[in-house]
Parts: sequence; C-alpha cells; structure tokens
Amino acid sequence: KVLLEVRGLRATVNGIEILKGIDLTVRSGEVHAIMGTNGSGKSTFAKVLAGHSAYQVTGGSVLFEGKNLFDLDPAERARAGVFLAFQYPIEIPGVANSHFLRLAYNTVQAQRGKDELDPLEFEDFVREKMKLLEMSPDFLDRGVNEGFSGGEKKRNEILQMALLEPRLAILDETDSGLDIDALRIVTNGVNRLANRDNATILVTHYQRMLNYIVPDFVHVMQSGRIIRTGGKDLAFDLEAHGYDGIGNAQPVAA
Ligand code: ADP
Ligand code: MG
Ligand code: MG
Repeated sequence: KVLLEVRGLRATVNGIEILKGIDLTVRSGEVHAIMGTNGSGKSTFAKVLAGHSAYQVTGGSVLFEGKNLFDLDPAERARAGVFLAFQYPIEIPGVANSHFLRLAYNTVQAQRGKDELDPLEFEDFVREKMKLLEMSPDFLDRGVNEGFSGGEKKRNEILQMALLEPRLAILDETDSGLDIDALRIVTNGVNRLANRDNATILVTHYQRMLNYIVPDFVHVMQSGRIIRTGGKDLAFDLEAHGYDGIGNAQPVAA
C-alpha cells in the first residue's frame, strides 16, 4: 500500500529554490534512507513534509494515504500519522517531559477515537516504552529535553515516536552526535517500531546508521534532487567511493 507519493516537489526558502523536483514513493512496510552531502536539501525535504512554515512549496505534489498532504496543517499532519524527529530537538524548560508526552499521546488518541490516559495510567504505559529505549524514568520529571545530552534528546524523540505510533516516521540525522551505545539503543528502538503497516524515512549523511537499520531503498540527494536510487548496497558504495564517486552517474527514476 502506498503511504507517501511525492511527485516533482519543488520548494523555496527566502525565495531561493532548494528542492528542484523530488520524486519518491514510500509503501507501508518499507524503510528508505535519504543520503547526501551537507547542503543537498535533505533537511529541507523533511521539513517541507512536516509543514515547516519557513518553506514555500512552489511545485509538484505530495499525497499521504491518497490525500493532499499540504491541505493539512502541521498539527493535522502529526495526527494523521506523520512524525518528524528533528536534527536539533527543542528544549522546553519548565514543562515536565511526562506532561508533554501525555499531552501529545492523548491528542493523537482522541483524534483516533481512542481512550485518553490519565497521569497514572500514562505513567505505567510510558515506563514500558522507556524500557525499550533503556531510558531511566527520571527523564519523565525533567523539563522537556532540558539539559539532556545529545543522545538523551534523540532517545526522547524515539520515545515520542514509540508513543504516537506514526504511519510515517521521518528521522533527520538521528544518528548525529550519538556514541556507539546510544546509536545501538536508538536504532534498536526504531527497528522494533517498524512493522508492515508503517514506514520509515531515515535522513543521514553517514552510512554508519545503516549498519543497524537495513533500508529497503537508498536515495542519494544532490542539489535538491534525488540523483540515484538503489538498494542497501548503494550506501556501501557511497562509503567506499564517496559522494563524488557517484555524482556523475545517470539519474534513476524513484
Ligand atoms: P542538508 O540537510 O542536506 O544538509 P539543508 O536542507 O539543511 O541540507 O539545506 C539545503 C540548502 O538550503 C543549503 O544550501 C542551506 O544553506 C539552504 N537553506 C536551508 N534553510 C535555509 C534558510 N532558512 N535560509 C536560507 N537558506 C537555507
Ligand atoms: Mg546538514
Ligand atoms: Mg540536514
């Protein structure tokens, strides 16, 4: 089943065209990796999908489960099951992480016509999910990401994802700044959340993460376009030959 269908997507920021015609089809059960050099437009693509207001869509179309994604505001996209883990998660000092997580969870539950959880019920539920990510319950009482290390912020993002059970998860550079233990824990969490009804788009500069999460497709972005699409081996080619080594290859239709 097709979850996401991107056709000829173009987008600008401050009047500068960054995305110059992206085509991508993501079906349920699939994991896609989007790789590319710094500045190739990977984060811009992720943010446009999430509905970030700084970016103007100037062409093309994006359908999510057959509906025009751009008819939905960012909150509606989240409720519809699109989840974006940011490269730089925000801190919300003074707001308890447990409160924030429960609010996010209950909002989505209500939208799906399911029961909300009171603080005590939620506490039990979230603690189970935290075990998966080897996170101490202490992180529930702290401010949202307040003083969290890079790795702890990434785990907290994946915890949100575990709670919200999105149909489409987009992880932007979730591997950056993670030591090898944190990388193992985070990727293990992502793997356990992946199932045949959802899909994951991993945005990453490095092949390293793909030792832990095996993608079905690897796409290489350059200058706002996908210039190559292949299987998981394409990531190893990149590691061996660098982005320049594949840069002159003929584009392959996604
Ligand atoms: P990547 O994630 O692949 O490293 P980005 O999507 O972050 O690339 O950036 C792509 C290009 O868009 C870069 O040249 C970057 O400088 C530019 N860009 C992104 N956001 C803005 C912005 N708000 N204003 C101006 N240029 C931007
Ligand atoms: Mg970057
Ligand atoms: Mg980026």
